[in-house]
Amino acid sequence: MANTGWDEFEIGAMLRSFDGKIDDIAGTLQEDRAYSQNNSFVASVADWRIEKPVFNKDFCIDCQFCWIYCPDISIISRDKKMIGVDMDHCKGCGICVEVCPTNPKSLLMFPEHADEEAELAKWPEKDEEKK
Ligand code: SF4
Ligand code: SF4
Repeated sequence: MANTGWDEFEIGAMLRSFDGKIDDIAGTLQEDRAYSQNNSFVASVADWRIEKPVFNKDFCIDCQFCWIYCPDISIISRDKKMIGVDMDHCKGCGICVEVCPTNPKSLLMFPEHADEEAELAKWPEKDEEKK
């Protein structure tokens, strides 16, 4: 099953996303869910990303905009606190950066190979001309 191609399944085949019985999937944290090997959550699906978001918690106000708008559910938030980015699933679309309202932004896009600590060290200053 692990190496079966998408076009090798019988028409109508059903792949289960989880192993075993699920009682409260919405109330279970992602890392605690029993994902099956059929579920893309267990694999990195971000190999083709060319830019990545870097998170600077010093400016974050935990507004959760990035969490709401991320199309890949790749913003990690716990108890309404922004924690970081799930880099195994982030596609590098930049939407989280676009919607981040802080000045300077708390998320910025950088080339995939950029060193995160180095980018954090030269984060932009507040733009006084912006409200
Ligand atoms: S770059 Fe796109 S996919 Fe990645 S965390 Fe931001 S919004 Fe989500
Ligand atoms: S959008 Fe920006 S300020 Fe709001 S939670 Fe995300 S990183 Fe923090």
